[in-house]
Amino acid sequence: MVCDANRPRASAPLDSAMWGLLLALATFAPAVDLGLGTPGASGLGLAPPATTKAPVSTLAPSSNPAQQPSGKNNGTSEQHVRIRFVKKKKVIIKKRKKLTRPRPLVTTGPPVITTPAGALHLPEEKEPGCPPLGLESLRVSDSQLEASSSQSFGLGPHRGRLNIQSGLEDGDLYDGAWCAEPQDAEPWLQVDARRPTRFSGIITQGRNSVWRYDWVTSYKVQFSNDSRTWWGSRNRSSGMDAVFPANSDPETPVLNLLPEPQVARFIRLLPQTWLQGGDSCLRAEILACPVSDPNDLFPKAPALGSSDPLDFRHHNYKAMRKLMKQVNEQCPNVTRIYSIGKSHQGLKLYVMEMSDHPGQHELGEPEVRYVAGMHGNEALGRELLLLLMQYLCREFLRGDPRVTRLLTETRIHLLPSMNPDGYETAFRRGSELVGWAEGRWNQQGIDLNHNFADLNTPLWEAEDDGLVPDTVPNHHLPLPTYYTLPNATVAPETRAVIEWMERIPFVLSANLHGGELVVSYPFDMTRTPWAARELTPTPDDAVFRWLSTVYAGTNRAMQDPDRRPCHSQDFSLHGNIINGADWHTVPGSMNDFSYLHTNCFEVTVELSCDKFPHENELPQEWENNKDALLTYLEQVRVGIAGVVRDKDTELGIADAVISVDGINHDVTTAWDGDYWRLLTPGDYMVTASAEGYHSVTRSCRVTFEEGPVPCNFHLTKTPKQRLRELLASGAKVPPDLRRRLERLRGQKN
Ligand SMILES: [Zn+2]
Repeated sequence: MVCDANRPRASAPLDSAMWGLLLALATFAPAVDLGLGTPGASGLGLAPPATTKAPVSTLAPSSNPAQQPSGKNNGTSEQHVRIRFVKKKKVIIKKRKKLTRPRPLVTTGPPVITTPAGALHLPEEKEPGCPPLGLESLRVSDSQLEASSSQSFGLGPHRGRLNIQSGLEDGDLYDGAWCAEPQDAEPWLQVDARRPTRFSGIITQGRNSVWRYDWVTSYKVQFSNDSRTWWGSRNRSSGMDAVFPANSDPETPVLNLLPEPQVARFIRLLPQTWLQGGDSCLRAEILACPVSDPNDLFPKAPALGSSDPLDFRHHNYKAMRKLMKQVNEQCPNVTRIYSIGKSHQGLKLYVMEMSDHPGQHELGEPEVRYVAGMHGNEALGRELLLLLMQYLCREFLRGDPRVTRLLTETRIHLLPSMNPDGYETAFRRGSELVGWAEGRWNQQGIDLNHNFADLNTPLWEAEDDGLVPDTVPNHHLPLPTYYTLPNATVAPETRAVIEWMERIPFVLSANLHGGELVVSYPFDMTRTPWAARELTPTPDDAVFRWLSTVYAGTNRAMQDPDRRPCHSQDFSLHGNIINGADWHTVPGSMNDFSYLHTNCFEVTVELSCDKFPHENELPQEWENNKDALLTYLEQVRVGIAGVVRDKDTELGIADAVISVDGINHDVTTAWDGDYWRLLTPGDYMVTASAEGYHSVTRSCRVTFEEGPVPCNFHLTKTPKQRLRELLASGAKVPPDLRRRLERLRGQKN
C-alpha cells in the first residue's frame, strides 16, 4: 500500500526480554510441511500441544472469587458500583503516569512480555506459539466482535483489528481502532471464537488516527464459554488477576503471552489504564490454537488449505536463495537464476527466469515480469512469487498444458524481493509484530515506489506546449539530467531495476504490494500539480483497465461478494480496480516510469488487507491468487504482435516505432524487429516507422479470440538512406538511384 507514507509513525525498540520470546515464538511458529523439505514442522502446526489440557466441559469458570473481578459475572447490573471502583483506580494512575505527548516512549511498567513471574522453568515455551485468530486477516468477521460501548460506529468493535487504518479524513465510518465511550467505566472488547479455542496470547496497538493519540497502557484478560460467566487470566506466582502492560505509542504492536493458555470460546480484553487525556482505544489480534472437537459439537473452522504441495513458509534472504536454487535444480531446462544488482546492504536482487530457452530472447516471444517486495514489509507478494516458481516448475514437469504453453510462448522473469533489506527488518520482527510501516523503506529510508524518475512532468509540459508527438516523443522518455548525476538520491535497488528494464524488452508486468485488496493502474501521479488525488488516465486506459480487471476478476479474495473493506475504502464498488492517481498521487512510481521509459505496461496489485500474513494463511492466499497470477501473464497475448523487417534483406529492424491511430503512446521493436502492442479488441490503423525507411500503415483487427493477432511490416528504405549506406560502404551510386535523388532535389527547390 502506498498511502501510509505520510502517516505519523512511531517505533519502539524491543527490549531483550521481548527478543528472547520472539525468537522462541519464531522457532516454534507453525509451519506447513507439504513435501518440499520443511524440517521439523508437523502438519499444520495447529495440533494441540503435547501437554494434556482439561477438556472444555471442565473448564467452567473458577469458583475462586479472586479470579472474578467484581460485577463481571453478570453483564446487566451493578453499573454504579463499577464506576466507583474504576474511578478510584484512575486517580492512582494519574499520579503514576505523567505522559503528555507520545514522543518519548516511556515504559513505566515491566517488560513488554508478561512471563510467568518467578517460575522455575518455562514449560510453555516448548509449546508451539499459536497463530493469530484472524482479526487482522478478517477471518474473524465483524459479528464476532463485541464491546461494552463504542464512541461511534467508526470506532466500533469491528474496528478493533490489528493494523486497521483510519480513513485520511478520519470519518465516522472508518476509524482506526475500537474506542470505548469516555464515560464507560469498565470497557471491554470481546471476541467470539465460535468454538472452543486455546487462547495463548494477545497483541495490541493504539489508535491509528491523523488527529488523535489514544492507546491503552494496561489491560486484563477474561475468558468465558457462554459470554455470561467469566474468569480471568491469573499470574501463577501471586494467583492474582494478571494486569498486562500494553502500549506506549499508537503503532508498535505489543505481544503478551498468557501465563497459562486457556481453553474457552470467548475472550475479553479489559483496558485498565490508558494514555492520560485520551480514550480507551485499541486494535488487537488474538493468538489462538484450535482444540480438538471429536464429537463435532461446533461448526468447523473454514479450511485454509491448498492441494498444491508447495513450500508454504515465509522465506528470509537465505531461505529464499536456497528455495530458488532447489527450483533451478528441479527444472534446469526451463529456469535460470540471475541477479540484477545489490541492495544497499549488499543483498543480491535475484531473479528467476522461466522459459523454454532460459537466458535468451527468442524472436516473437514476449518478456513478462513480476516484481514483489519493493516495500519490504509487504511480504505476501514475495511468497506468492516463490510459490509461483515452484508451481510452474512442478506443473511443467507434469506436462500441464497451460503451464507448458506459458513457458514455451513467453519468457517470465520473477523478482521476489526488490527491497531485501526492508524485508529482513520486517521478517526479524515477525508477521504479527512488524506493525504497519517498519521495513517498508530500503536501508537508506527511501520509498522505492517514489524513487523512479518523474517522466510525467516533462511529458505533460511538452504536451501543454503542443510538442508531442512531433518534437517530443510520446514514449521512451529519457532520464532527466538531475536523475543521472552521481549525487542524485537514487537507491541502488531502483538503479538496478531501471537497468534491468532497459536491458530486457519487457511487455507486461505487475508489481505486488499488500495492505489493501485492489488493482491500481497508471498514471499513479496526478496531472494537476499538488493535487492529492485526481483521475489521471493514460492514453492506454482501455488496456490498463482490461489488465486490472483480469487480475481483480480472477482473484478469489477480491471476488468474494461477502468481503468487508480492508480499511477505509470499499474498492469492490468499482470492480476492485482504481486509477492510481485517483486513489492518491504517487510521483516517481514504478508503473508510470515503466510506461513512459520502456514498452512495458505495469499495474500494482494490492494483494491482501494484511501486509505480512501469518504463514498459515499462505496456502489460502496462494489459492486466492494462483489463477490470477497465471491469467494475468497470459494477457500478453491480447493485442497485436509481429516483426518489422527490411523489405530487401528480410532482416528485423530494431527500434522501429509502432503507432496506433487514436492512442498517443507508441511502442518500439526489440533488437530483432519483434514487437508487441497490447490492445483491447477492436479495429486499429497501425503504422510502423523507422529511421531511413518509408513508414507503412495497415489495419489490424484484435478479436476476443486468443492472440496475439499477427501484424507484420516490411519497410522499404528511403533513397536517402540507401545513398547514405552506399557511400558509407565506399560503393558507387547506381544511376537509377542518382536519378531519383536528383528528381527529389528538384522537387524541393
Ligand atoms: Zn506497497
